[in-house]
Order: sequence, then structure tokens, then C-alpha cells
Amino acid sequence: MRILVAEDDPITRRLLEAHLTRWEHEVIMCRDGTEAWNALMRDEAPRLAILDWMMPGMDGATICRKIRQKEQQHYIYIILLTARTQKEDLIEGLEAGADDYIAKPFDAHELRVRVRVGSRIIRLQEDLMAALAASEYQASHDVLTSLLNRKAIIEFLQRELARSHRDNTPVSLIMADLDHFKRVNDSYGHLAGDAVLKEVAHRLVTAVRPYDAIGRYGGEEFLIVCPNCDEESSWAIAERLRNLVSEAPLVTPEGSFKVTVSCGVSTVSGSGHNTDSITRAADQALYRAKELGRNRVELHRGELEG
Ligand code: GH3
Ligand code: MG
Ligand code: MG
Ligand code: MG
Repeated sequence: MRILVAEDDPITRRLLEAHLTRWEHEVIMCRDGTEAWNALMRDEAPRLAILDWMMPGMDGATICRKIRQKEQQHYIYIILLTARTQKEDLIEGLEAGADDYIAKPFDAHELRVRVRVGSRIIRLQEDLMAALAASEYQASHDVLTSLLNRKAIIEFLQRELARSHRDNTPVSLIMADLDHFKRVNDSYGHLAGDAVLKEVAHRLVTAVRPYDAIGRYGGEEFLIVCPNCDEESSWAIAERLRNLVSEAPLVTPEGSFKVTVSCGVSTVSGSGHNTDSITRAADQALYRAKELGRNRVELHRGELEG
């Protein structure tokens, strides 16, 4: 465990370092409160801190108070080290935001056990954060392709439309639909169909710019939101992804498949547009691409229906 220790007394400092290192912790040593505060404000700050109460610069209780006031991504578990062991002092320390305290002169065994408690709490919190991140990912991503799911891509589109309205910049939406995809399923089975969808998703990701977003809108339909992108540029992106899908067979564990895709593109700029109207427009353009023979890109023409 990485532990930050702030202590102004050299003898106590050396003792703390010796013990913690022997117990295989990595120690980041600070000699006063200001140094400790600066170290704790870094992104890669240790998650456990042992702070002396009385030190120059900033005292341990003040550091606790300031840390708890900040909205931090990671919780820092703080053990106050103090010669002040009156009940009122301890209450003050805990109220300042410390998680625990150790009386000075400290007992090595007690230190070891209290550090172990802190490590356990931090590990629990890390597990919780990881579980939260995983469930957030699951709620916004498609299981098969790992692209954004329908809800998440529409939310992205909504944010980009708001931005387009604010900044008066264009935003484009590409709706891509695999051609005759039912035939893949009918001829080779659903597993092959799934493998093709995964590989298509993979190719689409490589075709777009880093700030574009791709989501799975439905079965074999994808939405690509291109922020700050006019008709000409979005046409070029749609052509690039159409080519990428069709130029070489898709190699999957289920075999190689030749697949093509049709795209409908709609571009808006400024106010008065919502996710429904731009999606409907892209869908209409896609419908025309299908009618005109598939494996092609069509732009939506004319005004968007409200
Ligand atoms: P078109 O060129 O007109 O788009 O023809 P199509 O066959 O692609 O269109 P249609 O809408 O008739 O069929 C889409 C097919 O996509 C139906 C379904 O079997 C398949 N599909 C949808 N979602 C999945 C999926 O998650 N996995 C697999 N394997 N197939 C899917
Ligand atoms: Mg001191
Ligand atoms: Mg479809
Ligand atoms: Mg289709």
C-alpha cells in the first residue's frame, strides 16, 4: 500500500518510515503540512495518509478539513497522529474529517493494526468504485458490439444538438444499415450473424474521427454522430465507412463474409432540431439509399420535419 506520512519530528519520522517499510508499504514522506497538502492534491496521491496533528505549514486537522471539503474522485483515509489525547481533542480531530487517530508516542503494533483497517476500507471503496464503473458501462454499452447502446447514442446526439444550437455549428447524423443481413443469418446461422455484427462495429470504429460517437441503434443498424461536421464532411465519413465495410471480406471466427452497408446522412445547424427530427431525416435518406440499390450513401434533402 502507498502511504503518505507527514511528520515534522525527525525521530518519529524515521521510526514511522522504518516500521511501514518493514511491513512492505511504500512510504511517501513529508516534513510539514504544506508538503503533505501538495502531495495529497496530486492525481496519483496515496489513498492512505498518516498526518501529524502539530506541524508547521498546515496542521493535520486543517489538512483533514480541507480534503473533506474538496470533491475528490478517490477517498483518502486519514489517520491523525497526535499527542493530544483528551477526549475533546479526539472529537475535534474526527470532526475535522480524520478516520482514525493514533496517540503519540505510538505503539508499533497498534500502528500496524490501524493501518490494516485503513487498507481494508480503501480496498472496499476501490471494489465499490470498480463495480459502479462496470455497471455504468453496462448501462450505456451494447453487449454484443461494445458500442454505445441506443439510449447512450441518443443522449450523445441530444448533447451535440444542444451544443450546435448554442454555438451555431453543424452536427451530422449517419444511419448505417447492413444490406440483406437477414440472408447472412438465414444462410449461416445467428452465430455467424453476430460475429459479422461485431466485426462491422470494429471497422466502423476505425472509420470515424476520435470525437465522433458510434452506437448500435437496433439489430443491424448503427448511428454515427459527427459533431461540428457539415454535409460534405459527413458524406466523406459515410463513404469511408461504407468502403471499409465492403472493400474486404469480414473475417470472423465463424468464417469470412462479404457484407455491404447503406447509409443515410442528415445534417443540421442551429436551433429548432431535436433527436427525433434528425433521426427521421437520416432514416429517410437511408430508405432512399436502399431503394437506389444499396451499398451507397444518400443525403437527406430539404427541410427537416419537426
Ligand atoms: P435490407 O438490405 O433491406 O436492410 O435487408 P436486411 O435483411 O438487412 O433487413 P431486415 O430488416 O429484413 O433484416 C434485418 C435482420 O437483421 C433481421 C435479423 O435476422 C437480423 N438481426 C438483427 N439483430 C441481430 C442480432 O443481434 N444478431 C443477428 N445475428 N442478427 C440480427
Ligand atoms: Mg509535530
Ligand atoms: Mg435494418
Ligand atoms: Mg438491413
